[in-house]
Amino acid sequence: MKGIGVSPGISIGRALRVVRQKAATTGILLSDDEAVREEVGRYKDAVNHSVKDIRTLITIQEGSTPPIGSVLPGAAADILEAHIEMLTDPQLESDILEQIRVGKKNASDAVLEVTGRLVETFRNMEDPYLSARAADIEDIAQRLLKHLGALPPQASSLEGSSLVTPGEGPALVTPGGGPVPTTPGEHSVPADLPFIIVADDLSPSDTIMMDLRRIAGFALQAGGSTSHAAIVARLRGIPAVVGCGTSLDKVADNDILVLDGATGQLWVNPGDNQLMELRRKKTALAENALLLASLKDVPARTVDGRRIRLLANISRVGDMKDAFQHGAEGVGLFRTEFLFMEKNSFPTEEEQFLAYRDLARASQGTPVTIRTLDIGGDKPLPYFPMPKEQNPFLGHRAIRISLDKKDIFLTQLKAILRASSFGRLKILVPMVSSMQELRAAKELFTTAKDELLQKDISFDRDIPFGIMIEVPSAAVIADLMAREADFFSIGTNDLCQYTMAADRMNDKVSHLCDPYHPAVLRLIHFVIQQAQLNNIPVSLCGEMAADPLATLLLTGMGLEEFSMNAPSIPTIKHIIVNSSMDKARQVLRQVMEFDDPSEITQYLQDINA
Ligand code: PEP
Ligand code: MG
Repeated sequence: MKGIGVSPGISIGRALRVVRQKAATTGILLSDDEAVREEVGRYKDAVNHSVKDIRTLITIQEGSTPPIGSVLPGAAADILEAHIEMLTDPQLESDILEQIRVGKKNASDAVLEVTGRLVETFRNMEDPYLSARAADIEDIAQRLLKHLGALPPQASSLEGSSLVTPGEGPALVTPGGGPVPTTPGEHSVPADLPFIIVADDLSPSDTIMMDLRRIAGFALQAGGSTSHAAIVARLRGIPAVVGCGTSLDKVADNDILVLDGATGQLWVNPGDNQLMELRRKKTALAENALLLASLKDVPARTVDGRRIRLLANISRVGDMKDAFQHGAEGVGLFRTEFLFMEKNSFPTEEEQFLAYRDLARASQGTPVTIRTLDIGGDKPLPYFPMPKEQNPFLGHRAIRISLDKKDIFLTQLKAILRASSFGRLKILVPMVSSMQELRAAKELFTTAKDELLQKDISFDRDIPFGIMIEVPSAAVIADLMAREADFFSIGTNDLCQYTMAADRMNDKVSHLCDPYHPAVLRLIHFVIQQAQLNNIPVSLCGEMAADPLATLLLTGMGLEEFSMNAPSIPTIKHIIVNSSMDKARQVLRQVMEFDDPSEITQYLQDINA
């Protein structure tokens, strides 16, 4: 079977199916005002009880050593705190109360109606992070419904089981409600084999409360790489495969299951030889993981002394800790879209300042590049109306919006500037395609600084102002751009799609969107050379930075700063500390001889093997 591998490693365990009970709408309408009052009261009590539940969970998380939960205490608490915020959100309350008072629905129908709509909205968002937030809403809805008596007290088969409580708890509950089968079926299952959870999806609460000492992995029908289950699995190093679809229905409790969280492969009841082979692979991977972990505090330096900086791409202040844990030397890309997407209206200068200041403080003196708003294209803002466009990726997005809606841009620039007193911040502008745009952006940057100077507000006067190189026109005039920008950050995700005229989100053409196409490689090489000639720093923050196949090639081009998802840092570092600049330049020379992207990839695979 095949799904999406979201947390690498091989795990061998016995399947345990977990189901979640769903509440159904009753359709009963409230007959009088008294009934309405009663339902309003019941709803408010359910909110209070749910908040109390979550506070207890947070306390258990913080108090337990080692944490019984699956996430590190800090990250778990963040998720749970976010649930309290959602539960007490005034908009949610007023929407639900309206359903009760005006729609005459009982409290559980009102909760189902409102949260159901919200879940749909989030699930349909293109951005995978936001789309995964649908699970949080389902989670709080489930809690409310339980307190409203619309669900049995144990709404998921994990609740109340010994897998989610410290020490000995009541017996596990199967989907049917009975105890977990302990007698092996057709297969002989060693009793000490840990569980692999098999489920549609796991709620954030379930994942947080799991006792991972007895759970070896997750295999889920739904989910993407940014679902909570995936995040939690990665944080705790538990192999996980998501997005398996209905093929998982074939798995029965106590089947022996092996999953490879890197490739997304699953084996059900493998034969003895195959099992032995998988065990060998598991041991080799575990040894490799130890090797990578030992590199955490080792600087990334080639054997002949070229120092390469490895930074993290993050979207939330809370990600900083994880970045450091993987050995990041700072943040090469802080995407600010999420700060805007999580709100119901544009965050104020003060709100933004507080977020950027927290980020600056959390960075502990390491550099942090904050990118200004990159909305449009695949990233809409729910409260910012964007007329339908024929070609959104070629339309009104990123810097183009910032230059049109100057207030939004100025507010963000001032907030970042104010936060620059608290850390080593840099400002990065996305999607610049011409010198005129760069100059217009810099003019507004000067205006923002002047406004702060007039008000006597302190900021870092030397804060660098750089641009993303992700539009081919900018790459082609990198020599001119380098005279006026303080630094470059190459966005290969967009650079590929625009160079190849192939939508990065469209499966039918995504094969064309290949960073190993000679056209893309020539552009990247030219940009790096021009940055160096003009003595400005250049970084690469697209997905290519995390691709082990590209490490030597980019180092050979002279790239000295890579920014990527934090978990990839150790792998890339391992390649760097075992290579020389001579070798890297030789790889570059050879690659530039090829004219076919597949030949290039094949060659890079061969030298990496
Ligand atoms: C890029 O385009 O490579 C990039 C890093 O930006 P984003 O993926 O946010 O568009
Ligand atoms: Mg981009």
